[in-house]
Amino acid sequence: MYDLIVVGGGPAGLTATVYAIRKRLNVLMISKDLGGKTNYRLALPWIEDYQVIRGLEIVNKFRSELEYLKFARHMEPVERIDQAENGFMVHTHGGGELQSKAVIIASGTKQQRLLVPGEKQFIMRGLCYSALSYAPLFIDRKTVVVGEGDLALRSAAELATVAKHVHLIGLSGDTLSSVLGKKLADSENVTILEGYSVTEVKGNGFANQVNVQSPDGTAETIEAEGTFIEMNLIPNSQMVKDFVELDDQDRIKVDCYARTNVPGLFAAGDVTDSYAEQVLVAVGEGAKASLSAYDYLLPLL
Ligand SMILES: Cc1cc2nc3c(=O)[nH]c(=O)nc-3n(C[C@H](O)[C@H](O)[C@H](O)COP(=O)(O)OP(=O)(O)OC[C@H]3O[C@@H](n4cnc5c(N)ncnc54)[C@H](O)[C@@H]3O)c2cc1C
Repeated sequence: MYDLIVVGGGPAGLTATVYAIRKRLNVLMISKDLGGKTNYRLALPWIEDYQVIRGLEIVNKFRSELEYLKFARHMEPVERIDQAENGFMVHTHGGGELQSKAVIIASGTKQQRLLVPGEKQFIMRGLCYSALSYAPLFIDRKTVVVGEGDLALRSAAELATVAKHVHLIGLSGDTLSSVLGKKLADSENVTILEGYSVTEVKGNGFANQVNVQSPDGTAETIEAEGTFIEMNLIPNSQMVKDFVELDDQDRIKVDCYARTNVPGLFAAGDVTDSYAEQVLVAVGEGAKASLSAYDYLLPLL
């Protein structure tokens, strides 16, 4: 029986695990990889590394520690978590069953893909996720935002404050009638292509063109130095969906102590409903979840 199992080896999970090791808990991190989304980095011909807040110094430090401490990690997907008599039973993909008094879920989110020609070739080479992280790099540049929901709307609004032009593809209806939607519709440097879809991404080393199709089938090519895929994120929360409270986007609901509605079950990082998908936020939330789990465990140690 472990004191604590942490699911996920991204910024939130790594931080939570290292904090638990420092507190001398009997902790196991179970993850598909080490580093999570910090393994993706946007490359652009004009980017200088200092311009982006990546938070890698702390993540790489914790990652190295987990690489060294083999006993504290297990590399395999978690399929399901059940409530058990004295805590939780964690079921892994290979059929393993691991028991723990407390669990921290730090399993992040999945990005939706465009599934068009050119996507694989140019991903993170001009074709990007996370305008939240990279929009300020596109001063006076032509950009495209693809997405159907609030994330695309927000991303287009941020890009519109700096970019030469933003083409917004995929939004429609209610989202466009919001305050931000109306502001974008009135912006001179924004073109909203309602109901359009992307058919191909093209480039030369880096993505620089997006082929789109209108609802009546007309094809068009848009020049863009940056294309942002901002389709809503899919939280990796399925493993606890049967007994933990999720919000309307399937994110795990947590309070300011990183507690879920289930005693002993905590969550941190992008998989939760806490604000802002950023590395340093996930690191902070991971630290908080671990300290909170420690306080929960104190009477049981
Ligand atoms: C392309 C891209 C670029 C970004 N650039 C920046 C940036 O420059 N600066 C910045 O601050 N933020 C950036 N972000 C956002 C940032 O990466 C995330 O907010 C952060 O990584 C979230 O950390 P996390 O630990 O919550 O989740 P993740 O980093 O997503 O980690 C989740 C972990 O859980 C594991 N996992 C998932 N499902 C399971 C399962 N079933 N079983 C076991 N393990 C599982 C994964 O393997 C992974 O290790 C970027 C995001 C993207 C997509």
